[in-house]
Amino acid sequence: MAINTPLQTRSNNACELCSSNDENLQAYAVPPKTNDSNDNMVVLCSNCFSKTAASDYTDTNHWRCLTGSIWSETPAVQALSFKILSKLKAEDWAMETLESVFLDESVLEWANAEDELEASKIVHKDSYGVVLETGDTVILTQNLNVKGANFIAPKGTTVRKIRLVADNAEQIEGKIEGDTIVILTKYVRKSV
Ligand SMILES: [Zn+2]
Repeated sequence: MAINTPLQTRSNNACELCSSNDENLQAYAVPPKTNDSNDNMVVLCSNCFSKTAASDYTDTNHWRCLTGSIWSETPAVQALSFKILSKLKAEDWAMETLESVFLDESVLEWANAEDELEASKIVHKDSYGVVLETGDTVILTQNLNVKGANFIAPKGTTVRKIRLVADNAEQIEGKIEGDTIVILTKYVRKSV
C-alpha cells in the first residue's frame, strides 16, 4: 500500500526499520492488525517490505537495523522490530537487544499475536485422527526405519512420553531403544 501524508511525515520519508530513503516506500500493516489505521502501519523500503512479507530472516546483517528501530516511539515499529528480533534470537546482538528493551504489554502482545495464532492452528493427530498430546503413549502402525541408527522399530512398538514438534503437525518425537527420534504422526496410533 502506498503511504499517505501522515505516514510520510511520521517516517520522514524513510524506512522505519532501516532508514533507507527508498523511492518505493510502502506501508505495511503489522499482523494481525489490518491497514485501517496509520497506527497499525510501518513505512518500509522495498527491501524490508519484501523480506518481511516473505518472513525471510536469513539476511541477519540487514536486520541489525532493528537494534535501532526497536527504540522508535511508534508502537507499530516497536511491535514489528520485536517480532523480527524474536526470529533472530540465535544472534547474540538480537538477544541482547530483546533483553535490554522495555516495551508496553500491548506492544508485546501485538508482536507475538501472529505466532500464537499459528501455534494454535497446529494440532497433532494420529493415523485415526485422534488428537495427540505431549506425554501420550503411541504405538507404531508400521515398521519404522530409524535413520542413522541402523535398526528397524517393528510395527506394534510402544513409544512412551511423546513430545509434539511445535511447528509441525505431522511430527512427534519419542524414544525408541534409547534414541530420541522424529516419528510421523500418520504412522502411529494413540494407546489408550
Ligand atoms: Zn528498510
